[in-house]
Amino acid sequence: MTVVVKIGGARAVDPKGALADVASLVEDGEDVVLTHGGSTAVDETLDALGEEPTYVETPGGVVGRFTDERTMDVFKMVMPGKLNTDLVESLQNEGVDAVGLSGTDGKLLVGKRKSAVRVKEDGKKKIKRGDHSGTIDSVNTELLDTLLADGYTPVVSVPVLGRENGGGYTAVNADADRAAAAIAGALGADLVVLTDVSGIYEDPDDESTRIDAATTPAEFAAVEEAAEGFMTKKVMAATEALETGASSVTVATANADSPVTSALAGEGTTIEPGAIAARETDTESAQ
Ligand code: ADP
Repeated sequence: MTVVVKIGGARAVDPKGALADVASLVEDGEDVVLTHGGSTAVDETLDALGEEPTYVETPGGVVGRFTDERTMDVFKMVMPGKLNTDLVESLQNEGVDAVGLSGTDGKLLVGKRKSAVRVKEDGKKKIKRGDHSGTIDSVNTELLDTLLADGYTPVVSVPVLGRENGGGYTAVNADADRAAAAIAGALGADLVVLTDVSGIYEDPDDESTRIDAATTPAEFAAVEEAAEGFMTKKVMAATEALETGASSVTVATANADSPVTSALAGEGTTIEPGAIAARETDTESAQ
């Protein structure tokens, strides 16, 4: 079994339990790839440097980060620098031989750079240039397989390697949930997305309304309907993971004793390939 674990960057998330759990899975001989976010830490560092993070709204109303050159520099310092190193250090203390990688190392995560984005500012649609963001269309699974086969545990961070239209690459920001999804899809793994809530709730403010599983398109539609704000990115990531070959996706809390093992045992919101695959067939038959 291969498990891709994504640990969130929210302030309310303590990675301790997850790291101990990763260590016990590795000890049991499972292949684990850890991935992480960290936008909050990037914002805090920008703040400490007296700079403001820029968030923009797409014409469709989705709010996202605008990563200019200076922000990208801070991003590189914080994500593969401090945060990744901290996780590798903690795993080493748990007896795990962890190796930190960003998407740029060994062309681990490659996609197309998007340097201009459509935004809505003061009700007007505009094109904003100079963004350092991108999507992921290729994962170097050979690199991950080599490390895993040699007993190392990869710890993966964004940025990713963005292909420029004119040739060459630029390191760009990509959504950490989607990066985890791309890796889980490429490895045919189970994806566990650990965050500060115990799953996806029908009512986002009421934990008792957690949706335990989505195995059919109808159940998945309920999950999509329930997700708001940042959770919509996780649902989008879950869709991408399952469409590209992941065997399951579970959204669960990081703040538990054995959060990964519990999530794999069904504690959280589990989405199975049937929720997506059957939907594709539905679309085909509707055409
Ligand atoms: P992370 O930083 O761990 O990746 P995010 O902050 O991106 O996590 O996403 C988790 C947040 O999504 C929760 O804290 C919650 O506020 C929000 N959320 C939106 N819709 C839902 C929902 N239906 N169920 C649970 N949480 C939701």
